[in-house]
Amino acid sequence: MAKHFKLRGIRIHQSYEVSEAAETLGASEPTVRRWIDNGLPVLSSKRPLLILGFELKSYLERVQAKPKREAALGAIMCMSCRKHRMPIGLMADYIPTSDTNGRLEALCGECEGVCMRFTSKASLPVLATVLDITHVSCDEPNGTTKTPAKT
Ligand SMILES: [Zn+2]
Repeated sequence: MAKHFKLRGIRIHQSYEVSEAAETLGASEPTVRRWIDNGLPVLSSKRPLLILGFELKSYLERVQAKPKREAALGAIMCMSCRKHRMPIGLMADYIPTSDTNGRLEALCGECEGVCMRFTSKASLPVLATVLDITHVSCDEPNGTTKTPAKT
């Protein structure tokens, strides 16, 4: 669902006919009927169908909240916060664990704790649009990218 509706216009103690709900939200009537088919509760099965404002609001909040459950691109699970956090300075280390997979390690932007997530090498270019990723090689203890430049 790409479109977001104006939930603020809904009065939770009011009941709405389908056409009224559609108008309040700036949605079309078929859209509202589809919500009912998909589980939006109505007060009675008789015509006109009445939707309680409270139900309408909570239904749309549920539906529209779905995409937000996915962590933002670049967010990494913080071991301390137990939430996905954006790392400090948007910097992360990529430590390969195989040819195709590895893990990202970073410091939590909220608590400076350790953040970690497993990722595939293939997804690094996408993550790199958000994060400054340093590739760390476990096989070479001296590191590759972190070696200070000689003067
Ligand atoms: Zn944290």
